[in-house]
Amino acid sequence: MSSLRITGGTVLCFDEERTILPGGEVGISDGRIDYVGPCRDGAAGEVIDATGQAVMPGLINAHTHVAMTLMRSYADDMSLHAWLEQRIWPVERHLLPSDVYWGTLLGCVEMIRAGVTTFNDMYWHAREATQAGLDSGLRTCPSGVLIGIVPDKQAMFERAVEFADECIARAHPRLHVRFGPHAPYTVPDDFMAQIIEAAGSRGVPIHTHLAETEKEVADCLAQHGERVMEHMQRIGLFDVAVNAAHCVHLSPAEIAILAERGVGVVTNHSSNLKLGAGVAPIPELLAAGVTIGLGTDGTASNNNLDVLEEVRLVALLHKGLRRDATVISAYEALEMATAGGARAMGFDDLGRLKPGYRADVICLDLSAPHLCPGHNVISDLAYAAQSSDVVTTIVQGEVVMRDRQVLSVDQAEVVAKAREAALGLVGRAG
Ligand SMILES: [Zn+2]
Repeated sequence: MSSLRITGGTVLCFDEERTILPGGEVGISDGRIDYVGPCRDGAAGEVIDATGQAVMPGLINAHTHVAMTLMRSYADDMSLHAWLEQRIWPVERHLLPSDVYWGTLLGCVEMIRAGVTTFNDMYWHAREATQAGLDSGLRTCPSGVLIGIVPDKQAMFERAVEFADECIARAHPRLHVRFGPHAPYTVPDDFMAQIIEAAGSRGVPIHTHLAETEKEVADCLAQHGERVMEHMQRIGLFDVAVNAAHCVHLSPAEIAILAERGVGVVTNHSSNLKLGAGVAPIPELLAAGVTIGLGTDGTASNNNLDVLEEVRLVALLHKGLRRDATVISAYEALEMATAGGARAMGFDDLGRLKPGYRADVICLDLSAPHLCPGHNVISDLAYAAQSSDVVTTIVQGEVVMRDRQVLSVDQAEVVAKAREAALGLVGRAG
């Protein structure tokens, strides 16, 4: 019997059959979906009336560094390597664990309001980031950053292993830990091998950045005589489950490697555009059968955590680049933000509205003028909706936002504390 019933909305299942149920119902019990179908009049359970709304799986932010909200608008209009070396890394050296907590919580509130229910995070002070994610009510997939070009890399590795084991032992239904080697250019092969072994032996996926810039590819060719994916394949990275952010600069042979090895690719178009990195070849990856998720990346390079904005961008950008309006449909773009993102991250029970799946569900108000007259709800969501149309956000069966009111945390307090932390941080960095 469902303890929570979302009734009367247009239910978009994002299942294999692409089911859409007008005036449907989604039932939830024990954190899972237990019913999807026509409205069951008179059934028991708490009801959320979604009449006039779209009901769909929560959006998945499959690559981000949430606490970088603290550096939003701090360093813009710079190339990736200059941006990292001159602006971001010098500030990050002064980060306190409490900064990460409040910066992450700020980002979580932003995501809850935008209908994002899962975030795949990679950042410093992963414990505090995780606490913030869990406190916010979101599905939290943390990984500490692992960098192999620093003197204390071994201690960093041991802390990451300890943190991963702690998360696994906790068995929290909204906590899904990863290992986070930053990128091939900051993680030498022997260090990557250690991480691969730790991930493989625990069945924990690896979340990393691959082939983000042309410089990264050129450096890899110069150092190893092969391109990034060829090199990663050779050192065994793809022997474990991998969520690879970016994958912007790929040869046809590398696209074939990603498809063959089942690597989940996460594209971050806003970030790649803003840092002048390029555009990932999404139509080619899709044609090869690669699973694609969408990410916002950190807010210092986006500058928001709005996955719906990434949906529109992925649908529009490739049409323009290829001068072909049939490339990447509205449905395919939305699928990347839901079922695709979940699969790219290794979930087999997330991102669809289907009995047995985790109950991460959002409702969007369809009554706004910019969504009228509503000829096609999929097109409206991909091309016309705004993240502020989200009215309800449910994660693992818990309502974290209702009627646009965030229930899990005090939004005003979070904004004030995060602002204070951000100002303190850039003040310390001088
Ligand atoms: Zn990133």
